[in-house]
Amino acid sequence: MVWSLLILLIAAIAAVLLIPAARRALVSEPLLAIYRRILPPMSQTEQEAIDAGTVWWDGELFSGRPDWAKLIAYPQPKLSPEELGFLDNETEQLCAMSSDWETSHIHYDLPPNVWQFVKDQGFLGMIIPKNYGGKGFSAYAHSQVVTKLASRCSVAAVHVMVPNSLGPAELLLHYGTDEQKNHYLPRLARGAEIPAFALTNPHAGSDAASIPDLGIVCKGEWEGREVIGMRVTWDKRYITLGPICTVLGLAFRLHDPERLLGDTEDIGITCALVPAHTPGVEIGRRHLPLNAAFQNGPTCGRDVFMPIDWIIGGPKMAGQGWRMLMESLAAGRSISLPSTSCGYSKLAVRATGAYARVRQQFKTSIGKFEGIEEALARMGGNLYMMEATRILTACAVDMGEKPSVISAIAKYHLTERGRVVVNDAMDILGGKGICLGPSNFMGRAYQQLPVAITVEGANILTRSLIIFGQGAIRCHPFVLAEINAAREPDRAKASRDFDAALFGHVRFALSNCMRAFVLGITGSQWARVPDVSPRTRRHFQKLTRFSAAFAFLADVSMLVLGGGLKRREKLSARLGDVLSCMYLCSAALKRFEDQGRQQADLPLLEWSVWDAMFRAQNAIEGVISNYPSRLVGWFLRWVIFPLGRPYVVPSDRLGHAVASLLIAPSATRDRLTAGIYLPKDESEVIGCLEAALKAALGAEGAEQKIRVAQKDGRLAPAGAEELAEAALAAGIISAQDRALLERATQLRNAVIRVDDFPQDFGLSKALPGGPVAESRAAA
Ligand SMILES: Cc1cc2nc3c(=O)[nH]c(=O)nc-3n(C[C@H](O)[C@H](O)[C@H](O)COP(=O)(O)OP(=O)(O)OC[C@H]3O[C@@H](n4cnc5c(N)ncnc54)[C@H](O)[C@@H]3O)c2cc1C
Repeated sequence: MVWSLLILLIAAIAAVLLIPAARRALVSEPLLAIYRRILPPMSQTEQEAIDAGTVWWDGELFSGRPDWAKLIAYPQPKLSPEELGFLDNETEQLCAMSSDWETSHIHYDLPPNVWQFVKDQGFLGMIIPKNYGGKGFSAYAHSQVVTKLASRCSVAAVHVMVPNSLGPAELLLHYGTDEQKNHYLPRLARGAEIPAFALTNPHAGSDAASIPDLGIVCKGEWEGREVIGMRVTWDKRYITLGPICTVLGLAFRLHDPERLLGDTEDIGITCALVPAHTPGVEIGRRHLPLNAAFQNGPTCGRDVFMPIDWIIGGPKMAGQGWRMLMESLAAGRSISLPSTSCGYSKLAVRATGAYARVRQQFKTSIGKFEGIEEALARMGGNLYMMEATRILTACAVDMGEKPSVISAIAKYHLTERGRVVVNDAMDILGGKGICLGPSNFMGRAYQQLPVAITVEGANILTRSLIIFGQGAIRCHPFVLAEINAAREPDRAKASRDFDAALFGHVRFALSNCMRAFVLGITGSQWARVPDVSPRTRRHFQKLTRFSAAFAFLADVSMLVLGGGLKRREKLSARLGDVLSCMYLCSAALKRFEDQGRQQADLPLLEWSVWDAMFRAQNAIEGVISNYPSRLVGWFLRWVIFPLGRPYVVPSDRLGHAVASLLIAPSATRDRLTAGIYLPKDESEVIGCLEAALKAALGAEGAEQKIRVAQKDGRLAPAGAEELAEAALAAGIISAQDRALLERATQLRNAVIRVDDFPQDFGLSKALPGGPVAESRAAA
């Protein structure tokens, strides 16, 4: 009797689930009604941010079943002969002409001849197509140029990077009218116009969609005729290139009280291009962002009248500004700050590694102390992963993607890791990093990194709100379909679409739950992996396991927390960390394959992947431990870590191997730091360091002979010079050894030198008022 009832019950459930019409009526439609009630309201600007951009490898990581063959098959970005020539010639020359010290301490800008060179050689038009007179470079080439410049002079890097990122050129290319494109793009490409883009208002920073700057549609006189135009009032700050721009991209909210453009009064955020000489436009004042001397400052205007066709794309694009900005954000965000961070970090790794070998304390190269090794290992491992991520992300842009989530990951993690690398470099350099001057190669990068953390989406916000928040909706195979179905006005279509998405989602979640558990209990030994290096195979398998676990965890979190997840920023941030770490690991593993599986680079790969997986594991644990429901948390831990957590920190042995790679010349060190500016001249601090490293290594044999002789009592204690003389006289070292020691000592002395200045820093000779005039805020 009981069995019959049970069979009947199962048959009834099966009938409901298998007959679409019954399933929709009895399950999907009631759930759709609940879903509509709990779905948090979404503003138009939020909707436009969600809709913007494309999903790429992030979608695979969200699927729980990443197709590794697809990742390996993505093309490796390559430079064309023209791009290569530009890097080896014009970019090399620009690096040679600029210096961090001169720009930031003496000129407070690029010197005029360097600015002219930047304009004449087309640095400001790298993303502008050739038919408009630009360079038409790939995203990868653009990234290589910015990376190289950042390794030499942050002001040059920023001045070149900004016009090639989100701003007038990018917006015109996608939305400009033909007339606007034909007028502005050739002028921007040859540097006849300096662009700036002004969005940020004192009251609207991170929440940029709430800008109060206002344009009112009205009639007015323009060049002797009555035209429809806008009276715009704005107050903007932090605008890069703002103080010297000739054309200002301006974002404001447009109102049309007289309905001159149509039926809508509050038209919405609008972007216009305003020639900076327009009467009423105020530019010229400067901020001083952490002593960086790139041009940055406020701009304002009050009731400035401008014709309506100054709107980018013309009047039909009025109110489309936020959509335009969101759609165009990904390309620039994928390139600019990831590239500068890699530039700073490559310089840090190359120069600090050399310094750590050359600088001796306690009669030993400091790079050989375990404490320093630990910092060097972090630097090398982080840089390997950063560089891999920079390249993979540029590859996405060159494939035509606008990777919104991936660009946020790259921006956040590369600037954060860049900060870690540069901080470690500063700790290793000690006083040498702290005293500013022409022979300090790290201080300016250290000052600059917080700027990268703050701009293009401040990092805390990006991690807490954007990466998982946007990823969960965009990259998840079913969530967006469910949301769209819930918003669909046609009832029958809504029911059909929701049913398909919901049951797809249920199958997806159950499958990932099972897979996460099975992969966990089997150590993912049987996860399928394409033909990759046997040394990295296990990493791919473990990533597959983490991807399944993450997909399941994300689904449970959305189910349990619903719209509340948006406010639970700490959980959202940790979920974003898991996704990000998987993306960074994917990039590192692909780089290893793309570079021909260089066995000598394995310690860098191993350290970086192990560290990122450890972080991903901790982020998962952080989510589970803080779950609002303990029972659900317990269940999640049981599914995801059935045998406990698999990762610990990268081993000391591995760290030693990484650090050793940084303190001696090698092909691995060259690959890791490729593409930076390396002056050969020993009068330049970096040229001197390179020479000093070789000399220090060359002299190590002789130094060892002297140390042994001292221990044996054959040489009495004395200063370095006297010891070398005595060792030569006693036949302990050869004349050649003596010469090697002398060169090493000479270069070491040059390398460890720091700058000093007159007691008043020369201010008594400066113009009245000194180099920095009174600050308006202080007044
Ligand atoms: C040197 C420099 C150059 C710039 N260049 C330009 C430019 O060319 N054009 C332009 O328009 N703008 C520019 N900006 C502005 C830049 O984009 C903003 O500074 C940035 O958007 C952050 O705004 P804010 O500084 O007002 O910080 P706030 O918005 O006040 O944020 C302060 C802190 O709160 C955090 N936060 C805010 N909201 C949340 C949230 N919901 N959850 C968690 N944390 C949150 C942020 O992450 C940040 O840590 C520049 C800024 C600087 C400093």
